[in-house]
Amino acid sequence: MPQSRVNLLDFDLAALEAWLVGHGEKPFRARQILAWLHQRFCADIGMMTDISRVTREKLSQIAEIGPPPVIRDNQAADGTRKWLFDVGDDNAIEAVYIPEDDRGTLCISTQAGCMMDCAFCSTGQQGFNRNLTVAEIVGQLWQANRILLSENLETPWVVAGCAPVTNVVLMGMGEPLANFKNVVVALKLFLSDHAYGLSRRRVTLSTSGVVPMMDALRDACPVALAVSLHAPDDELRDQLMPINRRHCLDELMAACRRYLEKAPRDFVTFEYLLLAGVNDSPAQARALIRLTRDVPCKFNLIPFNPFPGAPYAAPSRERVRAFQQILMDAGIVATIRKTRGDDIDAACGQLAGQVQNRVRYRLNQVARRHESFSQEAALEQRAKTTRLHVAEKPFV
Ligand code: SF4
Repeated sequence: MPQSRVNLLDFDLAALEAWLVGHGEKPFRARQILAWLHQRFCADIGMMTDISRVTREKLSQIAEIGPPPVIRDNQAADGTRKWLFDVGDDNAIEAVYIPEDDRGTLCISTQAGCMMDCAFCSTGQQGFNRNLTVAEIVGQLWQANRILLSENLETPWVVAGCAPVTNVVLMGMGEPLANFKNVVVALKLFLSDHAYGLSRRRVTLSTSGVVPMMDALRDACPVALAVSLHAPDDELRDQLMPINRRHCLDELMAACRRYLEKAPRDFVTFEYLLLAGVNDSPAQARALIRLTRDVPCKFNLIPFNPFPGAPYAAPSRERVRAFQQILMDAGIVATIRKTRGDDIDAACGQLAGQVQNRVRYRLNQVARRHESFSQEAALEQRAKTTRLHVAEKPFV
C-alpha cells in the first residue's frame, strides 16, 4: 500500500526541522520551505528552486502541500469575499475576506461545528463535528492569499510587497480555544517571520469564554483578544451561553484582566450581540458598565440578524443607538457592527452556526444534483441569492 504523504501545511518551524532531520535533511531547509509555502504561496514542491532537484524529488515522494480545496467562491459588490472549503466527510467551513482602505482582514474557522451550544447559534445547537487540523486552519489563509495574488489584487500594501491578507481574526466557525493545540501552532505560523510575519496586534482570537484556556493562550501565544459577552449578568448569560454555567462572569472578567498582562493590545474587545427585548435595555447597558469597570475594553455591538426559525429578533436602530450612547457616555468606546457582503453568503463570528447549516444544506443539495460533484461544478454555482451579513469591522 502506498504510504500517505505528510501535509507540509501542518508544520511549524520546529516541527518541520525535526521532520526534515528525521529524513536525513539539514534543519535549515525548514526555513526555505516555510518561505516557499507561506510567503510565496507555492503549491508545488518541485517549484522550490533553491532546494536541489534530488531533494525536491525525495520530498515530493513523502510530502505534499494540501490546503482544504475551495468548493465555492462568492464575491460581493463591496469586495467582501467568501470561500467555502471542503474538509471532508460532508463538512464544509468558511473564511471571509473583508477589504478596507488600509488593510485586508480574513475571518477564519477553527472547527467543523461547535460544542458550545450558544442559544442564538444554530451551529452550537446542532453539535460538533471535529477540530480542524493545522493545515485546515492555516490553509484558509494560504488559499486566500494565493487566490487574491493570482487575481493581481491591487492594494497599497500588496504594491508594497506585503501579502493581501494583513489581519486575521479567528471568529468563524467553532470555539478556537476548544481546539487549542492546533490553533496555537497556526497562530505561531501567522506570527512567525519565517511564515506570515503578522504582528500580534493584527491577529485576533475570539472566544466564548473558556477561562482556563484563556490563561493558557496568554502563556503560549498572546494575540489580540475578543470575548463574546452577550449578557450583563450570569442569569441571562447562563441561558444564552452554557459556557457561563462553568465559568461565570466574575471568573471571565478576572481572566480578561490576567490576559491583559501579556496581551499585545491594552484592551479586550467585547462582542455584544443585541437581541430585541432580551439584552438590549438601557438598564442592561448600565449593568455592562458596572461589570466591565475593571477591564480596559472596547465594545463591538452587533444587532442580531435574524435567520429562519431564530428565536430572537433584531432590535430597532434607535434601541441600538441608545445602548451605544449609554456605553459611550461612560467613556467606553462602542462601535456598531456594520454589514458587508449583503449580496453574497458572507458570514463571520457568532452567526457562523447558521452558515454551517446552510452550507451543509447546500452541499447536500449540490451533491444530489450533480452525481459527479466537482470543485469546478461548485465554483460555477456562485451564490447570488442568499443573504448573510459580515462585520465591516469585527474588531477594533
Ligand atoms: S456562537 Fe461561537 S462558540 Fe457559541 S456555539 Fe456558535 S460557533 Fe460555538
